[in-house]
Amino acid sequence: MRKSIYYSLLISAMMSVSVAEETRQVDKHEHGVGVLNIATEGSSINFEFMIPGADIVGFEYKAKSDSDIAIVNAALTKFGQFENIFTLPSSSNCTLVDSMIEVDQDDDHDDHDEHDEHDDHDEHDDHDEHDEEAHNEFVAHYSFNCGNVKEIDRIDFPYFNTFPNSGELEVQFVSGVGSTSFEVEGDKPFIDLKGKI
Ligand SMILES: [Zn+2]
Repeated sequence: MRKSIYYSLLISAMMSVSVAEETRQVDKHEHGVGVLNIATEGSSINFEFMIPGADIVGFEYKAKSDSDIAIVNAALTKFGQFENIFTLPSSSNCTLVDSMIEVDQDDDHDDHDEHDEHDDHDEHDDHDEHDEEAHNEFVAHYSFNCGNVKEIDRIDFPYFNTFPNSGELEVQFVSGVGSTSFEVEGDKPFIDLKGKI
């Protein structure tokens, strides 16, 4: 059984789409690769992170011990301050208007057959010591209204410092101008959006 907690405030068109994506991705994700979708619409900009637990806390089994629960809660608290994850140019005057952070846990052991169709188990061999079937993702959504969304010419990602286990972020950026993808890593932790909004 997939154990996810969705809050009613998430029920919007955008969130419905992302829920479907999460469901598809949790047990197919690649450790070391976080996914970030960014979209601007009018004066708003929305961020949607889906990051393997391996990249955030170093494990993906469901936290049960006090120490593991504390580690997960500390990570969730860090996500709760978006400035720990990314920053926007102050000239864009963006205000956070909505956010959601959760762990999407897939720890069902009854659907092995379905998992066996995937050929990505070998990548996960280093997790056998914990629980070879358990995967989870940290999912975080942030929505902003901006005084001048066109001033967003760059987004920085303190994410890489906040979470030392982090790998890369695969970023899909969509605006009225078009869409661009980026692969962001800790040695160059930003994206250049000049001319892209
Ligand atoms: Zn995983």
